[in-house]
Amino acid sequence: MPTPPHAIGFTLDPLDRVSEKRDDEAFVASLRDQPSTRFLLFVNNVPLFKRANGHEPLFSAQEAAAAGTPLQTVFLGRDAQQRALFAASFGDETESPLDVEAIELRPVAMQGLVPPPLVSALGEARSMLDWHRRHGFCANCGQPTNSAGAGWRRICPNCKAQHFPRVDPVVIMLVTDGERCLLGRQPQFLPGMYSALAGFVEPGETFEHAVYREVLEESGIRCTDVRYFASQPWPFPSSLMIGCFARAATFEVTVDRNELEDARWFSREEVAAMLDASHEQGLSAPKPFAIAHHLLKAFATGEI
Ligand SMILES: [Zn+2]
Repeated sequence: MPTPPHAIGFTLDPLDRVSEKRDDEAFVASLRDQPSTRFLLFVNNVPLFKRANGHEPLFSAQEAAAAGTPLQTVFLGRDAQQRALFAASFGDETESPLDVEAIELRPVAMQGLVPPPLVSALGEARSMLDWHRRHGFCANCGQPTNSAGAGWRRICPNCKAQHFPRVDPVVIMLVTDGERCLLGRQPQFLPGMYSALAGFVEPGETFEHAVYREVLEESGIRCTDVRYFASQPWPFPSSLMIGCFARAATFEVTVDRNELEDARWFSREEVAAMLDASHEQGLSAPKPFAIAHHLLKAFATGEI
């Protein structure tokens, strides 16, 4: 099995989350007051960047305070320099006197506008803040809930239920048959782009069963021999991509047109050309920040 590369987006240098101290309010409060502490600021799930310094997403405590009262604050963890990082969200407007620009995280990650460790921290922050934004009411009794544990759970004061941030597992799999692999096109992809098939894991399934089911549903292909490759947090809003390889056991493709615009077999040479933008018909593959790129690359280079 090939070694997963470091280039996969949202995976490099995850923070030390100090999760055992999240309920220690004095500890968390002391971190907020340290001069080295930095804040990632979001407006409606979109991170803010200082215009003055290229694309700087780190704000001091004073700068964060000047932006107004946040709707939500989460302690993310400590970075490699031992700085504490917090995420804070605001509604439509902040009162920030700073010259800031809001840029969606997806283009920030795709274009490498900030260093990879900060892309990972921004992804963690986006998933957490989005969870708070959409889980303000108790799923058990319907009453408003309160943030607790430095932002890592919500508690219902009415029925006492505790709610934890969700992660939605998604299998993404490259099915191979010797010198060819199976790729599909979703209607919302950029024109000419093909990628590995993917789908959400359902309750009661193993990753392997989810791979078998999704590949059969989307392409009519039965597969076997599922092998794990690597995983990738995907903060839109809070998926975990589980990258796998599988081997085809049947070969005739029947495309599920509800899910896919097209699916077909591609040769190793064709996949290599799609990855380096030299395909004769202009077909393309996902960029290196997506785990799909690395599944395809491992195949194109003969590692699979
Ligand atoms: Zn409740």
